[in-house]
Amino acid sequence: VVEIRNLTKSFGDLDVLKGVNMDLYKGENLVVLGKSGSGKSVLIKIMVGLLTQDEGTLKVLGHEVKELNSRELNRLRLKIGFSFQASALYDSMTVRENLEFPLVRNVKNLSKGEKDKMVEEVLDGVGLAQTINQMPSELSGGQRKRIGIARTLILKPEIMLYDEPTAGLDPITCRDINNLINQVNEEYHTSSIIITHDLTCAKETGDRMTVLLEGVFGATGRFDEVFEHASDQRIKSFYDYNF
Ligand code: ATP
Ligand code: MG
Repeated sequence: VVEIRNLTKSFGDLDVLKGVNMDLYKGENLVVLGKSGSGKSVLIKIMVGLLTQDEGTLKVLGHEVKELNSRELNRLRLKIGFSFQASALYDSMTVRENLEFPLVRNVKNLSKGEKDKMVEEVLDGVGLAQTINQMPSELSGGQRKRIGIARTLILKPEIMLYDEPTAGLDPITCRDINNLINQVNEEYHTSSIIITHDLTCAKETGDRMTVLLEGVFGATGRFDEVFEHASDQRIKSFYDYNF
């Protein structure tokens, strides 16, 4: 569902992506690893058209992203759920209002009953039905993450992009989020890219993983293929540092 070939991106003298090749297959969880500043966030911003590449091709759901006009790009974005590095809920709105927001903005002619039903379903799906009338400030960090994910699910995306979904959470909450990511792929039939520094998250959620090293993907495969039998010293030290 995503096909990237020889993609490059520089900011002035800084060559961040130097010829990236990557595929995301339907229904899989692909974990993208790489140290801070390696260009992981830049890559997914290019995927949703928030940045443009210098060279190379990027196809998302069959569309060459750089050739889309703004209306086509918006239509494509509706099929992509983007869970940002800092999950941003609207603090002055209740959980229900936060979840309704994408519907109100993007789907015309929904009755109140239909809207309520979609909100309740998706909230129930992330296990937080009881929080519907609460304010974000009353929720824990892990709960806010789940609500953020629920909000991206409400438009029934085909692709989910998670930028550091477990950052700043305790190990048990991390595990809950990892389970939720797996559950989302099964129930919503999405394909997902998960950016993380957390190898436990990678192991628990990733069908495949790939490591961004100095502007290109250095190794791609199952967890054991990439890490347990790594020959590249940079990948070895990544693993040793985490375990
Ligand atoms: P982290 O793990 O810390 O989130 P990352 O791999 O997501 O890191 P990116 O945010 O993709 O890193 O940034 C890669 C590099 O590109 C960094 O050096 C950053 O300063 C630079 N960069 C990102 N966006 C811009 C921009 N809009 N203008 C200039 N430089 C940028
Ligand atoms: Mg980042």
